[in-house]
Amino acid sequence: MSASYESCSFCPQLCRHLCPVAVASGHEAATPAKMMAAVLLAQRGLIPPRDAARAAALCTNCGACQRHCKYGIQVPALLAEARAHFSSPASVAAIAPIQGAGELVAVQCDGRSWAPALAAALGQPVSVLPTEDHLGDALLEHRSRAAPHLAQLQAVLSGRKAVSCCSRCIQVLEAARVPWVRLDALLAPSWDGPVFLCHGELDFPGHPLDRAPTCCGAHGPLASQHPELAADVARAAAAQLPPSPVAAPDAACRNALRAAGAQVLDPIDLLLDTQPHATT
Ligand code: SF4
Ligand code: SF4
Repeated sequence: MSASYESCSFCPQLCRHLCPVAVASGHEAATPAKMMAAVLLAQRGLIPPRDAARAAALCTNCGACQRHCKYGIQVPALLAEARAHFSSPASVAAIAPIQGAGELVAVQCDGRSWAPALAAALGQPVSVLPTEDHLGDALLEHRSRAAPHLAQLQAVLSGRKAVSCCSRCIQVLEAARVPWVRLDALLAPSWDGPVFLCHGELDFPGHPLDRAPTCCGAHGPLASQHPELAADVARAAAAQLPPSPVAAPDAACRNALRAAGAQVLDPIDLLLDTQPHATT
């Protein structure tokens, strides 16, 4: 494992004010430097490995600390390396069989059934790949163990193209090297209001940038291993959004922000709105 975990110990740690988890939780242990320190202590045998794994799982992989670090410390990657070292692979569901015909495959991951609406919008059949665990994205933390799962996904999607607007699912599709396309790329643009973009990119016309949220907590291990803290991050982000509805190109962000009380739409909502009568 990398020896760089002590770098943050010698730093004024100004990045703590940029970390969405540290800010939303108010916990010292949730600052980037303290997550790194926990890994260092476990490396030296001073705390149990499971405590380091839990600390490293406080990260959403938003990259804010790394983008502003004068020393170029790659905190998200280092914490991912630590989680893989100190924890066991999560158990994930087998890839389900595809339902229906159609070269395009709607990856439906949150209970919304949108394949019929996409078929109606495009005028061609669309099949469905249902998943309740974002195609088992938790397994990507242990890339070396993920190969059989990714091979199964390759086999199921052979000869077809997946459609998704969920970055958690897209991460797995990319890891499996299967053809995929974003849902919003298939549809005509139908939104001209403010947009919530993941990971520090902002598109909030007329909204003060210093009040625009950069992370909703829906990504990375935080959401699966510390769901209560992920909800705190989502609530903090939702409180910074404009009062009018906001679009989020990412379905996982939409779901987290909606659960926190924000008015957020994603490409699936917009599709279902334009094709309200499409049925299976
Ligand atoms: S990531 Fe960079 S700025 Fe943040 S504590 Fe570590 S060394 Fe300091
Ligand atoms: S990547 Fe984001 S969530 Fe993770 S430690 Fe850095 S600022 Fe915090």
